[in-house]
Amino acid sequence: MRSAGDRFPDDRWSGGTGGPAEEIEMGALPKQKISRRRRGNRRRLHFIPDLNLVPCRSCGEKKLSHHVCPTCGVYRGRQVIQIQARRKAE
Ligand SMILES: [Zn+2]
Repeated sequence: MRSAGDRFPDDRWSGGTGGPAEEIEMGALPKQKISRRRRGNRRRLHFIPDLNLVPCRSCGEKKLSHHVCPTCGVYRGRQVIQIQARRKAE
């Protein structure tokens, strides 16, 4: 049985000089090297971007801007949600 290369009858690689000495079965390979720029551009979303954290005006804890503070429950100087005391069991 002949190899998959037979699908392409062009036998410029067989025999003669300059071509590969023997046929080697290769797996799928990328055609070109990915430049550092393209590689980094692709990987730029592999990590969670920095959150826009600002100090809470009420308790000073870091919180998301334009969001209710998860530590004290205050938003724009108003108590919006009641924060339950931390469970001591954990
Ligand atoms: Zn707070």
